[in-house]
Amino acid sequence: MEERLSCADCAAKACDGTGGKRPEFCLTDNMPDGLLERSLESYRDGEDARILRVAATVEHDGYLKWCRVQETVEFARRMGYRRIGIATCVALLRETRVLASILRANGFEVFGAGCKAGMVPKTDVGIDPACCEIGRNTCNPVLQAEVLNHERTDLNIVMGLCVGHDCLFNRHSEAPVTVLVVKDRVLANNPAGALYTADTFYRRLRDSPE
Ligand code: SF4
Repeated sequence: MEERLSCADCAAKACDGTGGKRPEFCLTDNMPDGLLERSLESYRDGEDARILRVAATVEHDGYLKWCRVQETVEFARRMGYRRIGIATCVALLRETRVLASILRANGFEVFGAGCKAGMVPKTDVGIDPACCEIGRNTCNPVLQAEVLNHERTDLNIVMGLCVGHDCLFNRHSEAPVTVLVVKDRVLANNPAGALYTADTFYRRLRDSPE
């Protein structure tokens, strides 16, 4: 397949409005017909418009001052949310308890759904038995979403769901989803560490992909 250049290849960042020359392949100048206009339709009114505007005020007011936890609290407060769901990996229950205490101290109702709730063996859902080597029960992100849908949460926070399981949770959640912790079992939940060190420790990811 022919490799097409896109924003994923850009170093100009000219679209942020602070100047700079746009590259030949700039998406701003090579937009598929109608997509920009259609996206702007979403912001006329309704929930998408509110989320966009409230998120902008949180970004502005907390810029370089508020940590992500505080931004999340402020976003939820300004959106008028009351019930917060947490879809948590059970390996992060300690961190999730701390988050719940912070949210409750800020006046929110909290309901958490752990990834292994229901205790379904991996082999019951067609997963290769070899995967039981690192744990018998499957994560169940669809159940996590359904439980939080049942609880009628206003906003769901993801705490360290596995890659792929997060796809399923996001797909099935009725409430908007925001991510607080991205799981990385090797890099202390900081996947960007592999990108920052892609020319040194993590060179192998590009030079000799496994
Ligand atoms: S829109 Fe243009 S300037 Fe902005 S990241 Fe994409 S290619 Fe770069």
